[in-house]
Amino acid sequence: MRPFNYARAADIDGAIATVTEHRDSAFLAGGTTEVDLIRQNVLRPGLLVDINDLPLNRVEDLPGGGLRIGALARMSEVAQARGVLQRYPVISQALLLGGSAQLRNMASIGGNLCQGVRCSYFRDAISPCNKRDPGSGCAAMDGVNRGHAILGTSDRCIATHPSDLAVALVALDAVVRTRGRDGERAIGIDDFFLLPGDTPEREHPLEHGELITAIEVPAAPIARRSAYLKVRDRESYEFALVSVAAAVQIRDGVIADVRLALGGVGTKPWRARRAERGLRGKPAGRDSFAAAAAQELEAADPRPMNAFKVQLAHRAIVRALATLANGYGQ
Ligand SMILES: Cc1cc2nc3c(=O)[nH]c(=O)nc-3n(C[C@H](O)[C@H](O)[C@H](O)COP(=O)(O)OP(=O)(O)OC[C@H]3O[C@@H](n4cnc5c(N)ncnc54)[C@H](O)[C@@H]3O)c2cc1C
Ligand code: SF4
Repeated sequence: MRPFNYARAADIDGAIATVTEHRDSAFLAGGTTEVDLIRQNVLRPGLLVDINDLPLNRVEDLPGGGLRIGALARMSEVAQARGVLQRYPVISQALLLGGSAQLRNMASIGGNLCQGVRCSYFRDAISPCNKRDPGSGCAAMDGVNRGHAILGTSDRCIATHPSDLAVALVALDAVVRTRGRDGERAIGIDDFFLLPGDTPEREHPLEHGELITAIEVPAAPIARRSAYLKVRDRESYEFALVSVAAAVQIRDGVIADVRLALGGVGTKPWRARRAERGLRGKPAGRDSFAAAAAQELEAADPRPMNAFKVQLAHRAIVRALATLANGYGQ
């Protein structure tokens, strides 16, 4: 680990100005990703700008029923916030199924969206990796890729996006609020996560020095009946092999509306739009759920080691939707 300088920002504009001015600097929130990557020699910043004193840690209700989550709110606080538990259970469940209690107490919401991939070749700092060292190749392509993506892959990178929270937020059409040198931006969350394409080193559209200030979740009555299902190799402290964020509205046995997003299978948190289209107006039963899952997974491009994810994702989609549908009328 190389030495670096440390500064503690006193206000938002100061934090943005300092990081913008120093090309080799980065924001430091909870540090649960940033410090790991520095220790592993994957990141080598010259300056860390600590943003923990900035007033960005509130969880507030918005007029009209939405929610605003400050970028520095901790995962554990957000998971227990009343508005989240009552109106967006899928967010609470996604947060509580991530990391450990200690991590959730440290880790911030903004940092969670910007956490790096967990691909072991990216993190070993020596293997060829187009994300860490553009143009060097991708060791995962023919290497150990059991945990890698089957959707949204390119011939440059097949790493999955690891955030559970992001999957729930993508299902809910959240908006990422940012501030940078050129002012404020509102970025739809589906556009916030970039497919690897030819530029896997670029994971989101933030400019250097642009700070996430908050996440806004629009009012979504459908989300009162929502859930997050996470399938992983062990029951806690593990990233998803497959996960499903789902919300469904059923009227007279027919699916009136549905939200569906997948984690653990995509190079970005994966909004399952094909499946959603296939479900609307169909009877709320296993046949419809299975047909929609198959439709979504038609686009899968698995490797021999992660081909099992196609069937696992299919089953997880059906199970998540069936569990929500079974709750109707109770
Ligand atoms: C052992 C382990 C297990 C984990 N398991 C899970 C899991 O199951 N599910 C899951 O979703 N996550 C998991 N995580 C990831 C964890 O949730 C993230 O590390 C955490 O949310 C990052 O938040 P942080 O505040 O610590 O960010 P930091 O480490 O401080 O920062 C991470 C990155 O975000 C940038 N950043 C931080 N805040 C902002 C901001 N406001 N604006 C712009 N950029 C910003 C930093 O510059 C840095 O690049 C795990 C992590 C570990 C170490
Ligand atoms: S999958 Fe992506 S992150 Fe992993 S080695 Fe290949 S390029 Fe790097």
